[in-house]
Amino acid sequence: MTQSSLINSLPSRISAVQKRINIASQSAGRTPNSVQLIAVSKKFSGSHVTSAIAAGLRDFGENRVQEALTKIQRETQQKTCWHLIGHLQQNKTRTAVSVFDWIHSVDSPKLLQKIDQMAQEQATSPQVLFQVDLAGESTKHGASLDDVRRMFDLAGKCQAVDVRGLMLLPPWHKDPERVRPYFRRLRELRDSLINDGVDSTFVSELSMGMSHDFEVAIQEGSTMVRIGTAIFGPRTN
Ligand SMILES: *Cc1c(COP(=O)(O)O)cnc(C)c1O
Repeated sequence: MTQSSLINSLPSRISAVQKRINIASQSAGRTPNSVQLIAVSKKFSGSHVTSAIAAGLRDFGENRVQEALTKIQRETQQKTCWHLIGHLQQNKTRTAVSVFDWIHSVDSPKLLQKIDQMAQEQATSPQVLFQVDLAGESTKHGASLDDVRRMFDLAGKCQAVDVRGLMLLPPWHKDPERVRPYFRRLRELRDSLINDGVDSTFVSELSMGMSHDFEVAIQEGSTMVRIGTAIFGPRTN
């Protein structure tokens, strides 16, 4: 698909995704506005983002700080909300807290403290989620359950950061039903944290579900779906 035909098809692609979100929410007895659609624009151009804004989207996900910067700076006149969904290196923390409204990928107590310190210095107040490594895949990013609990111990002491919930990037399976147990375990982790006394405002969001499995994620309680391919098409590079 050429860039211009892709951009022309954005409104119908977005409304198709929104319709699927609505159906999945209703089938789970939830209201559709309990699920936030985040359009993952990584590897797509700033003009794709501009077109998606024109088609009514406001929330965008990027996985690299540097790549996101140019797109964010193009849209300063627009009402947009930017989500960092990829791994954050310590040395990019200062930039990240100055441009992202949400950081989904906080995966160590040390990173949380660094983000809080940088956010104080920059006088920003990013909302953060803790990325959990439920599969025990040490090769991937995500915090161990011990580190997740340590981060919640720190959450109340953060001066600038707002801790809002959990994020999951499960192992990839073609069949979304194979991913359902991971989504369910993230929700159960949220419930057990609340049972153990974690303030429920710290865990109100569950960021889980991508293009091929977001309906299952919504059935399991997702409040933020991160959708790239179903909106912008396949990424070629
Ligand atoms: C790329 C990416 C997505 C979007 O994936 P699609 O399959 O294109 O919808 C979601 N979450 C994260 C963390 C990603 O890196």
